[in-house]
Amino acid sequence: MEKYEGRAIFQRVAIGRIWYYTKEEQSIKRCRITDKEAEWQRYQRARQQAVEELKALYEKAQKEVGEVNAAIFEVHAMMLEDDDYNASVRNMIESQEVNAEYAVASTGDNFFRMFSEMEDDYFQARAADIRDISDRVVAVLSHREKKQDLGTEPVIIAAEDLAPSETVQMDKDRMLGFVTELGSANSHTAILARTMNIPALIGIPVKPEWNGRMAVIDGYHGILYLDPDDKTLEQMSRRQQEDKERARLLEQMKNQETVTRDGRKIHLYANIGNPADVASVLENDAEGIGLFRSEFLYLERESWPTEEEQFQSYKLAAEMMAGKKVIIRTLDIGADKQAAYFGLEHEENPAMGYRAIRICLEQPEIFRTQLRAIFRAGAYGRIAVMYPMITSVEEVRRIKQIAEEVQTELRRQGIPCGCAEQGIMIETPAAALISDLLAKEVDFFSIGTNDLSQYTLAIDRQNSRLDSFFDPHHPAILRLIRTVIENGHKEGCWVGICGELAADLELTEAFLDMGIDELSVAPGMVLAVREAVRKI
Ligand code: PEP
Ligand code: MG
Repeated sequence: MEKYEGRAIFQRVAIGRIWYYTKEEQSIKRCRITDKEAEWQRYQRARQQAVEELKALYEKAQKEVGEVNAAIFEVHAMMLEDDDYNASVRNMIESQEVNAEYAVASTGDNFFRMFSEMEDDYFQARAADIRDISDRVVAVLSHREKKQDLGTEPVIIAAEDLAPSETVQMDKDRMLGFVTELGSANSHTAILARTMNIPALIGIPVKPEWNGRMAVIDGYHGILYLDPDDKTLEQMSRRQQEDKERARLLEQMKNQETVTRDGRKIHLYANIGNPADVASVLENDAEGIGLFRSEFLYLERESWPTEEEQFQSYKLAAEMMAGKKVIIRTLDIGADKQAAYFGLEHEENPAMGYRAIRICLEQPEIFRTQLRAIFRAGAYGRIAVMYPMITSVEEVRRIKQIAEEVQTELRRQGIPCGCAEQGIMIETPAAALISDLLAKEVDFFSIGTNDLSQYTLAIDRQNSRLDSFFDPHHPAILRLIRTVIENGHKEGCWVGICGELAADLELTEAFLDMGIDELSVAPGMVLAVREAVRKI
């Protein structure tokens, strides 16, 4: 058994096999080799293994989906026997003295280009197959499985780093947990893990050779066990049972009010990234959705979501919540949340760069499309909208002007629309400090403590090296929160917290003392927060 210490970002236990995830571009580095014959033999072994895999897939597919559909795997296996293809790989290894991964990937690219330029439809169609077989051999060479061949068994994902866009695209039902080397507890990937109720660790020195090995994530102590012994397995299984038992006890909190013993009530909402998360919101009896991170709808795909597609997602959330409030935050793309089709330029300092509302104000067509979808969905439920990364009163006035124009346009077109409230996120020190002025402009504030902490403490939330400097309970943060609540209330705004701090049970009482009106937390934390409030 091996034991690795990291940092837990969700306190649960996961037991299962590791699937090592490598980003495509990371795996194909050009390296100079000295022993050309050994490299060629390495390629031959990998190629042979890929052929065996394809034969197994062919047989499995033949039984499950029939001969016609299975034939493609047979074709792929034959392609790997092709003399021209193999000669090209050999030639590259010998003449350029490069590693097999690079030779295979380059051969794949060259053949892909050649086939795609052919007139014949049949050969054009084979271009994608060439790339597929090359990927398969590269995957074998670099000790990882091809993504689509994972089988059906749920796994623990191990990766050097996971971007939010990669995490959202993974099949949640297949993820028991994940461990990464990079990332921090407040990174969006960590937040996603909490939203999805997935045990996760960061700061673990993961290795490709771990692929397929048994592992246990102990999310309580931040430990990963590789090839756990019987005693550890037994202890951890017991812990899983205890978690189940605790979850069962927390069930008693369902259908209860979120109210202190002396009768002070707050609203307890949940955070989501996708309409699919609404099921978990309802299951955990949240009273509404306090933060719908709409950018995840953009991150899940390779091109812009249309107004209609967005409308369907927002409408679905509104309808499923059946009259309960759904606060949709407009696009907060940028920094760690990147989608290639946005074409954002590389920035030295992306967390303080061109992101969120700044993109929306500079590219109003993106903003207007989203607002149309949100306001249209407003006709089907109690939708509110809020705007991220605000720093000035002028920004809010410009936003309100655009929102007004969009609503007028929808009405003129006779399209049903609605929007209960408009609010802003308070997640920059600037917004917190001028919250007295901002409060005159909007209906509510939602404090984003993740970014507010990052900017106030000058601690990059993506940088795991700074974890020891990060004090989530820093008095500067707590003072800013108090100021925002007081300023909001003076102007009749309600004030909530939707950053991760909202679920920090050590602070629940302090937030209530400050007069907080709403807390919005990961769905899996709703009942625990309700229990904490009811004890106060
Ligand atoms: C925050 O910054 O606290 C917040 C809720 O937004 P996000 O985590 O998506 O940046
Ligand atoms: Mg934020």
